[in-house]
Amino acid sequence: MSESLAVVVPVYNETAVLEAFHQRLAGVLSECGMATQVLYVDDGSDADCLELLHSLRARDPQVAVLELSRNFGREVALSAGLDHVDADAVVLMDADLQDPPELIPRFIAEWREGYDVVYGERIERQGESVLKRFTASAFYRVMGYLSDVEIPRNVGDFRLLSRRAVAALNALPERHRYMKGLYAWIGFPQKGVEYVRAPRAAGESKWTYWHLWNFALEGITSFSAAPLKIATYLGLLTSTLAFLYGAFMLVRTLLYGNPVPGYPSLIIVVLFLGGVQLICLGIIGEYLARTYQESKGRALYFLKAYHPAGDVTSQQRD
Ligand code: UDP
Ligand code: MG
Repeated sequence: MSESLAVVVPVYNETAVLEAFHQRLAGVLSECGMATQVLYVDDGSDADCLELLHSLRARDPQVAVLELSRNFGREVALSAGLDHVDADAVVLMDADLQDPPELIPRFIAEWREGYDVVYGERIERQGESVLKRFTASAFYRVMGYLSDVEIPRNVGDFRLLSRRAVAALNALPERHRYMKGLYAWIGFPQKGVEYVRAPRAAGESKWTYWHLWNFALEGITSFSAAPLKIATYLGLLTSTLAFLYGAFMLVRTLLYGNPVPGYPSLIIVVLFLGGVQLICLGIIGEYLARTYQESKGRALYFLKAYHPAGDVTSQQRD
């Protein structure tokens, strides 16, 4: 009985690269000596892209297509894909050829050595601006300080997961899925494989700085409660400073009298404290909103259709 490998690819309007991606991937898969399946998770793409996915499936019996009911975002698309694969090893990768399919045989080799999670570790970021590189590295550093689990740096979703690692991820019920953190959180033997991350082959990245900022918030709030404690320490600090300043004022007034200055310092203190309080409220709000969303217990996603690999009957669509 041969071992099976599934590749999960989230796809959102990737018409420009999909064909090239699939060719390269299929080339690699045909040589890895396992029963293979490629699951494209359509994350609410436009009609052109969907049609292309179905034409890939019609041509290649190892292709399965999972259609989500709308665009849910990459993290959810990945979770949906993981829910629908049944294989000894599962590879997650992007469709834009930034993750080289040629790395998969090396992932498999490490997996055979007994590693449950084998992740691609980027040694160079080509084609990304200095600003993006800088913000990414700053983010990883902050995350490193704040989070309870060690999240490897310069690592994306590109990785291989063993069957039990997939089962562990699927068992996590949370809606706010900061996948990078979750991969680390589940534990099991893990190993990085270094590679050079290429620039996007074609098409546009869906990332904006606003996305990146929200992604960072997601990561920090799902893996650390430290920001909630900031208010306490800021409070302690400002009270201590206020106490010292008060003592100083008292002594000065006793020694030299009070000529009633102090309007500017007063207004500065009022504004500063107001600002600090608002920031702290905002931080509490970020956590509260997430607690609220989790407490609703909504489904993570809905499926429009699932077209399994090599199943001719579900192949005919209008
Ligand atoms: N993607 C998705 N849903 C989205 C946005 C992106 O499934 O809402 C997919 C996209 O098709 C690609 C992968 O996620 O396969 C990575 O997207 P992108 O290249 O835009 O992200 P970046 O590489 O810039 O982080
Ligand atoms: Mg990309």
